[in-house]
Amino acid sequence: MGTDRDDTGPSTKGVHAGSPEAAPGAPVVVPLYQSATFYGGSETDTEALRYSRYGNNPNQLVIAEKMAALEGTEAALMLSSGMAATAMTFLAVLPDGGHVVASRHLYGATEALLTEELAGRGVTVTYVEPDSRKSWLEAVRPETRALFLEVPTNPTLRVFDPRIPAEIGGEVGASLVVDATFASPVNIRAASLGADAVIHSATKYLGGHSDLIAGVVSGSGELIESVRARMKLYGPSPDPHAAWLLDRGLRTLALRMEVHNRNAMAVARWFEDQPSVSRVFYPGLESHPDHALAGELLTGFGGMVSVVFDGGARAADAFTARLKLAMVAPSLGGVETLVSQPRLTSHLHFSTDEREERGIPDGFVRLSIGVEDSSDLISDFSQALAGLQ
Ligand SMILES: *Cc1c(COP(=O)(O)O)cnc(C)c1O
Repeated sequence: MGTDRDDTGPSTKGVHAGSPEAAPGAPVVVPLYQSATFYGGSETDTEALRYSRYGNNPNQLVIAEKMAALEGTEAALMLSSGMAATAMTFLAVLPDGGHVVASRHLYGATEALLTEELAGRGVTVTYVEPDSRKSWLEAVRPETRALFLEVPTNPTLRVFDPRIPAEIGGEVGASLVVDATFASPVNIRAASLGADAVIHSATKYLGGHSDLIAGVVSGSGELIESVRARMKLYGPSPDPHAAWLLDRGLRTLALRMEVHNRNAMAVARWFEDQPSVSRVFYPGLESHPDHALAGELLTGFGGMVSVVFDGGARAADAFTARLKLAMVAPSLGGVETLVSQPRLTSHLHFSTDEREERGIPDGFVRLSIGVEDSSDLISDFSQALAGLQ
């Protein structure tokens, strides 16, 4: 089906990988197979059983093929959410408990999964500041089975180098798992930087339209079969309709990312010139602490921008309340611009001091820049800011 040839670009792979075989009268797009089960299981049958919980519904298989092509891995698997992808991957790489070394900069639910859920099941976790070889090296132990890193991070958009934990993981026999949701496979190819498993919340850029919940994990055939085995038992398999929608989203991923990258750069530069904004976080800006590394690792700086208002929580509240075009909602990666305050969403359960410690002072606003005209977005931000003065 289609093309997964290595020499095609991400736009071509997004459109063609996993497409149906050419034949007169055949559909150009894999149609929706909204069917739980498929004929099979008679004595003369040689085919493996097809059942949608197993991840081998034709719509699920399109995503597997397309994502493996985009990531440059042997295999991939779609699951029912990003957290399902993360949880089943942990179960696959930690078959009998074991030790995990994880970056301190994690999506909230991933951190809770490690410290509140897996820790009760014999898994131990050490958190590290992932900015040096030394901090990873000091944390690994003989029983370390997995290393975990997010690039870029939420919400300060730090960019850490996966090649360092990849090398250390190789030395101690631990798998490197990278959550590359914020970059998408268009902006980073984490497997080519040494990740054994690459995770995406497909709810975000891959789907791209804020209308589906899904996750994907990509890696070697062996690793993916091990994740699939857990998915079959624990059951977080995606509905065929979500897979069909995700295929539609992936067809325009590369062209959407181009606009996200461009718009976010324009918005970040504009915020840098605003006197009521004390800080702008965007890896594409020279002022970002990881700007040089981001330029080396990423093919685009992404659609996420964070800003800090001088006037603290009050200013951030007033700004978001005045927005007319940008929508105040959690989540990210859709065609529409979404704005949220970590103080009221992802970091609600932390105190102001704990948030400060994590580099998220009150007054911090996270922007998921969509694909609208950037001049319209800047007009909206401008009128919202004008109301503060
Ligand atoms: C949203 C998100 C997840 C979880 O994805 P769901 O699809 O909501 O389960 C995991 N990691 C990152 C970085 C995310 O942004």
